[in-house]
Amino acid sequence: MQITHNISLKPYNTFGIDAKAKHFVSVSSIEELVTVLKLPEYPEKLILGGGSNMLLTKDQDLLVIHLNIKGISIVSEDKDFIFVKANAGENWHEFVLYCIHNDFGGIENLSLIPGNVGSAPIQNIGAYGVELKDTFFSCEALSLETKNIEIFTKADCHFDYRNSIFKQQAKGKYIITSVTFKLSKHNHKLHINYGTISSELDEMKISNPTIQDISKAVISIRTQKLPNPKEIGNSGSFFKNPVITKAHYLSLLENFEDMPSYAVSENDVKIPAGWLIEKAGFKGKRFEDYGVHKNQALVLVNYGNAKGSDVLKLAELIQITIKRLFDISIEAEVNIL
Ligand SMILES: Cc1cc2nc3c(=O)[nH]c(=O)nc-3n(C[C@H](O)[C@H](O)[C@H](O)COP(=O)(O)OP(=O)(O)OC[C@H]3O[C@@H](n4cnc5c(N)ncnc54)[C@H](O)[C@@H]3O)c2cc1C
Repeated sequence: MQITHNISLKPYNTFGIDAKAKHFVSVSSIEELVTVLKLPEYPEKLILGGGSNMLLTKDQDLLVIHLNIKGISIVSEDKDFIFVKANAGENWHEFVLYCIHNDFGGIENLSLIPGNVGSAPIQNIGAYGVELKDTFFSCEALSLETKNIEIFTKADCHFDYRNSIFKQQAKGKYIITSVTFKLSKHNHKLHINYGTISSELDEMKISNPTIQDISKAVISIRTQKLPNPKEIGNSGSFFKNPVITKAHYLSLLENFEDMPSYAVSENDVKIPAGWLIEKAGFKGKRFEDYGVHKNQALVLVNYGNAKGSDVLKLAELIQITIKRLFDISIEAEVNIL
């Protein structure tokens, strides 16, 4: 474990923003993590996983701790389910592939989501009709105050749409060190009716899909739809889809009759933020080295050398415009740092 100084974080964030870390360390065990946390000369810290859900708007004048704690183990199993624990530094997609390879079902729809296992509960990652919470059993998290490991059950985590206790009351107070999943061993519950999964399976000429087939279908759809951060810097969906009242939605329909919506409760509907951004004219707009992706209005991009502060200004302009046009507030999904 070695602390380095004044390094560029460009290789460590999928937006490809060239911000500097004043101090940087990669830890590969809980013991190393605790040692680093106790160093009095670095009072301010930032935890870094895969860097796929952050926009660095300035140099980080603190100690960046890259969590690289690896390891996957079977905790227990019964007739139907297996409890698998993955440490925080495991790459999420590689963990999904490990589960598929072993025929453990439940997270195949979450294939190809970038980032690490330890960050997955923070915003309750989700895609194609499945959320992390559906298979989450518990997680271990190190309290920054006591330096002890605490266990969070599913109920403790208060999971919601792109939200959890780790984005709310527990924000900045814990470092998630491992996550345990409850996965099916057989009779997997398949989710194929979301998005274009079933038509992708049809194209693959598969009528009786396995979890592996679903993963392949999701990978194929995502590869076509989403810009690859290795080619063009981005953090996936920049904004959350807003929830508004049905009454508000009905009033908007008078002017925007093609506005899509999804019911989320008796009184509320969710509006695709990408639709709002496209309608506001931002889709494909490029400003210098940053802009809005040409196929995905929800994805802000760095064409090479954009500054995080410029991307943030664009995000704010989009928020103001959406508010003015539709009286809807859209909230960033990405962590602004
Ligand atoms: C192309 C692309 C597609 C994406 N698609 C999806 C999608 O379909 N669904 C979805 O939900 N998300 C998606 N995302 C967002 C992202 O992949 C997830 O939010 C992912 O969980 C972030 O993990 P990370 O390790 O990269 O987190 P980081 O970006 O490293 O960290 C995110 C935040 O969590 C904090 N943090 C990191 N690790 C820990 C820890 N162990 N304990 C406490 N705090 C921590 C960091 O300080 C930071 O504030 C996408 C991103 C990209 C680039």
